[in-house]
Amino acid sequence: MSEVYDLVIIGSGPAGLAAAIYAERAKLKAVTIEKNVMSGGQVVNTYEVDNYPGLPGMNGFDLAMKFREHAQQLGAGFQEDTVQTILSKDGLHQVVCENGTYEGKTVLIATGATHRKLGAPGEEQFSGMGVSYCATCDGAFFRNKVTAVIGGGDVAVEDAIFLARLCKKVYLIHRRDELRAAKSLQEKLFAMENVEVLWDSVVEEIKGENNVNSISVKNVKTKEQKDVSVDGVFVAVGILPNSDEFKGVVELDPQGYIKAGEEGITSVPGIFAAGDVRTKALRQIVTAVSDGANAITSIEKYLNH
Ligand SMILES: Cc1cc2nc3c(=O)[nH]c(=O)nc-3n(C[C@H](O)[C@H](O)[C@H](O)COP(=O)(O)OP(=O)(O)OC[C@H]3O[C@@H](n4cnc5c(N)ncnc54)[C@H](O)[C@@H]3O)c2cc1C
Repeated sequence: MSEVYDLVIIGSGPAGLAAAIYAERAKLKAVTIEKNVMSGGQVVNTYEVDNYPGLPGMNGFDLAMKFREHAQQLGAGFQEDTVQTILSKDGLHQVVCENGTYEGKTVLIATGATHRKLGAPGEEQFSGMGVSYCATCDGAFFRNKVTAVIGGGDVAVEDAIFLARLCKKVYLIHRRDELRAAKSLQEKLFAMENVEVLWDSVVEEIKGENNVNSISVKNVKTKEQKDVSVDGVFVAVGILPNSDEFKGVVELDPQGYIKAGEEGITSVPGIFAAGDVRTKALRQIVTAVSDGANAITSIEKYLNH
């Protein structure tokens, strides 16, 4: 651990890789730590990314590889390891990993988030083939088709409203008899003629051949079971920020997101956050890479003050 880096980046999804690119161009002595063999984070498993400017219809894996190659071409260094916590002392930060410790004048946390799974048979099999966790990302593939959104919170209702503007019909499937979403969102939803809410209902199975063609829905009160024909299923049962390792290190909001604005500044001087793991309105590739770039500007200012 004798080496002291200007910057230790944790995570090599879009936010971490954009930061690695900007750090190399800013001539910072930086290292990026990634727990997976592959860089790219959530993008690696995304079949098609159709909203990243300039690259329509891009395969997620290829986009992730391009990000990583770009960083490597500029000289960025990577270490495969899992970060466990950060210990801060005398203005330096020790990033403690399973297999070693890295010391930095600054640290950028870019560990992303994980979409909660439904756990129903067929979910994994049809992931990217009709099952999606992101209406903003994939909604456009279901124009004039029939979709189902599963969940009852703000995100589920927002997704259903968003999809109702594109789709022929949208089912909102919720396991209780009332929604948790904000009342203003509910009013908007109930005003949409092509939305049908299936109350007290759970999805027991997602079915199809090459792509999704129906879901098996059970009413938890009456126990009645029926098959509903759909082309797409949007799972909106929660997102979990990958921030457990940083509890007690930096301030988190009640959902576990690291409290940080666009500049990436957290509650601890010298520790920054970027991408899906921070508090923000829109979690997308384009906002994650912007965060990575913005954070480096903040980090340069911090190092030069
Ligand atoms: C199925 C799906 C489809 C999507 N489609 C689109 C789309 O079409 N368009 C779009 O703009 N967005 C899409 N998104 C959202 C987009 O992928 C995310 O907003 C983006 O990847 C966030 O980037 P990030 O760098 O913040 O985090 P992530 O991509 O989550 O990357 C975080 C990285 O940190 C690593 N990491 C986590 N914890 C540790 C640790 N303790 N130690 C070391 N490394 C760690 C992870 O392994 C990962 O590589 C999609 C998401 C999903 C799940």
